[in-house]
Amino acid sequence: MEGRMRLEEFSTKINACMSSSTACGLCRNQCPSLEFWGREARTPRGRMALCAHLLRGNLFPSPSLMEAMFSCILCGNCDAVCPVGAGPSRVIEAARERLVERGFLPSKHEERGSHVGREHNPYLESHAKRFSWLPGLNLPERAPLVYFVGCTSSYREKELARKVVELLGKMGLNFTLLKDEWCCGSFLLRTGQGRIDGRKVEEMARHNLEEVRKRGAKEIVVNCPGCYRAWKSDYPELGIQPEVEVLHLVQLLEREKNRLKVREEEVRVTYHDPCHLGRHMGIYEEPRRVLSSLPGVELVEMPRNRENSWCCGSGGGFRAGYPEASKWVARKRLEEARETGAQFLLTACPFCLRQLKEVAETLRYDMKVMDLTEFLLERWGGWSSGSSGDA
Ligand code: SF4
Ligand code: SF4
Repeated sequence: MEGRMRLEEFSTKINACMSSSTACGLCRNQCPSLEFWGREARTPRGRMALCAHLLRGNLFPSPSLMEAMFSCILCGNCDAVCPVGAGPSRVIEAARERLVERGFLPSKHEERGSHVGREHNPYLESHAKRFSWLPGLNLPERAPLVYFVGCTSSYREKELARKVVELLGKMGLNFTLLKDEWCCGSFLLRTGQGRIDGRKVEEMARHNLEEVRKRGAKEIVVNCPGCYRAWKSDYPELGIQPEVEVLHLVQLLEREKNRLKVREEEVRVTYHDPCHLGRHMGIYEEPRRVLSSLPGVELVEMPRNRENSWCCGSGGGFRAGYPEASKWVARKRLEEARETGAQFLLTACPFCLRQLKEVAETLRYDMKVMDLTEFLLERWGGWSSGSSGDA
């Protein structure tokens, strides 16, 4: 994995944080793991200090160090506020890799990681069933656009995957799926497993890219922010530069919004920024511009939005590793959404959707949690929302 930085290479950033004038603790103000556990070792600053000791040889990999690093959601709130650009979430990922190299990996992540190596998904499912949600659909052998579905939509949000296909079809786009899609590798990278033999993300990236080439595609679209970050940012870090344009669905929807034929309906909605799409990839405005273009839709913001957004609690292996803390984080987000008075809480991520929907159901909130795709399809059948008429 040449090109992807190891912990040592973050020493300048760690030192910048640790110097007495800058170990400021600003990042403690909005860290979900600190708010839940209330312990310094579970703050961004505390984790940076542990990394500094690890690098200096004052501290050795141990179960408690593993807990400290793996109890982070990788939400990136700390990255957004750090005045010296220390980027704690990326340092924590590098520390996870170091721990994994020394044999410290939570057993749930180990089980899922080794499954990715064998069956190309972290959900302990069979690769042969990856596209079981799509029976009988005839898609072309070659097309200019490929929909890369990702593991979460393929195995846990199949209805959403079906709806993305339906939406792309209704928009009149010429698209297809990969014949043999593998996990993008995001789960392995986020849990420090991307360098292990048999789980090397580089190999997954090369396989997926070769499959895209076979389809003759010029663009791929993903609806999962984890896949988007992998294709757009992680693969180039690994030295693999996809020669195709990679778009998240919200970008495609914005570009093609003249094709959105939705009915006018007076509704109030709020939008949850997925961490991996927003803070990690800088995509905030595209979904908002799509929503603002829809007739009758009033978009109201939660107090914490865009780079200041509160996480849904499911990223970085946190949902699997710490289910109670994960639900607590989601609950706080749902409360914030409910206070806006919105009828719909919308997002653009299968992880966030699954997490927020499940917790909202247990709380019996009447606010509907939906992906933007579902929201558009539910209103399909009106005039084009674009200003220049039909495409
Ligand atoms: S990435 Fe999020 S959970 Fe992790 S240390 Fe930073 S603010 Fe806390
Ligand atoms: S990571 Fe940044 S915000 Fe947090 S203590 Fe260090 S310098 Fe301050």
